[in-house]
Amino acid sequence: GDFLASGDSVDARLTTPDVAAAFREAVGRDPEGVFAAPGRVNLIGEHTDHNDGHVLPFAIDRHCRVAAARRADDTVTVRSAQAPDEAVTTTLDALPRARGWSAYALGTLWALREAGLPGDDGWDLVVAGDVPLGSGLSSSAALECAVALAVAELSGADLDRPTLARAGRRAENDVVGAPVGIMDQAASLLCREGAALLLDCRTLEGQDVALGLDEVGLVTLVVDTRVRHDLADGGYADRRAACVAAAEALGVPALRDATPAMLERLDGDLLRRARHVVTEQARVHRVVALLRAGRPAEVGPELTASHASLRDDFAVSVPALDAVVEAALEHGALGARLVGGGFGGSVLVLAPASAAERIGEAVVRRAADDGHPEPVVRAVRPAGGARREPWTPAPRH
Ligand code: ADP
Ligand code: MG
Repeated sequence: GDFLASGDSVDARLTTPDVAAAFREAVGRDPEGVFAAPGRVNLIGEHTDHNDGHVLPFAIDRHCRVAAARRADDTVTVRSAQAPDEAVTTTLDALPRARGWSAYALGTLWALREAGLPGDDGWDLVVAGDVPLGSGLSSSAALECAVALAVAELSGADLDRPTLARAGRRAENDVVGAPVGIMDQAASLLCREGAALLLDCRTLEGQDVALGLDEVGLVTLVVDTRVRHDLADGGYADRRAACVAAAEALGVPALRDATPAMLERLDGDLLRRARHVVTEQARVHRVVALLRAGRPAEVGPELTASHASLRDDFAVSVPALDAVVEAALEHGALGARLVGGGFGGSVLVLAPASAAERIGEAVVRRAADDGHPEPVVRAVRPAGGARREPWTPAPRH
């Protein structure tokens, strides 16, 4: 149906030849290669990452592409189709001082050099992506991971994908200044097509879990409420602190180690915050078991239970998110939940393909009725991790 294209109609979809052409136009020569890294969405496991727990993201069929070539000097240039007025020219020495959008790209190059990237080459990098920026689909990790793969491969570096993921995270932590975990980069680099990645945030061990959605006619939609709450940063820090306090009160290293029985020793807000994490961990494991048993439709109620827990116990939902979840469920969704830190952002919906169009219309109508901004609905499909694109320069005459 047409609505499934509604996300596409607001997002320019970019191809590898587009990005190579942009490189040629901006830099005046061919790139050495074009690399693509996907965004991601987390199926379940919300606010479990900072409690040493499990998350279950899958990469999506939207990518950041980077066309790249080495330079003979120590200059680094970066340009993006999504930041056309903010081209940056700098040097290898100045990488950690990068600011603005370029901090994600230049910070990654810096972190990789710290991690042992061979050579002292400068770089020309041209970026173009179709992961929407700031919609909770991790355009930031897609950018970092595309840059990481590009410079590692073109340098002939022997760096494995977990090392590339850590470099992306380090860029975001130390150069951008955002205290994110490793989930987004791990998903972008390590996911297999059609599968989610069960990631243990304590050990960083990952396991593929086949989703099997196509086989049973299910789709996933991401509905961006376009509500961004001013309290998001403060609320996030407060919830993290509550989790640390609850773990201390229980005498466990992290809430991942708490059992349901231990919760009886807590009360008030600490009880509610800890109960979300403990029950969410259990939901992650139930979802993995259902997927492994080939029963993906039964994942729906676990997603909805996750939302209720995030709303009632963790207290990070807002009316615009609740309205999308309710409208989706009323119109045939199997399950829905807010994704990301909360206080705004997006809702993930699991639905039969046949109900997708109706759900898309219903969430837009409900937002209008409730006086919320018009949400953007995007269908996302589970995709494989970052890759070098099959691309070679057109022969010259
Ligand atoms: P999310 O990762 O959920 O999309 P973030 O706030 O973490 O949201 O990252 C979005 C930021 O990442 C943008 O504001 C921009 O600075 C940077 N970014 C991501 N992709 C691109 C891109 N293709 N071109 C330029 N900047 C980008
Ligand atoms: Mg991000």
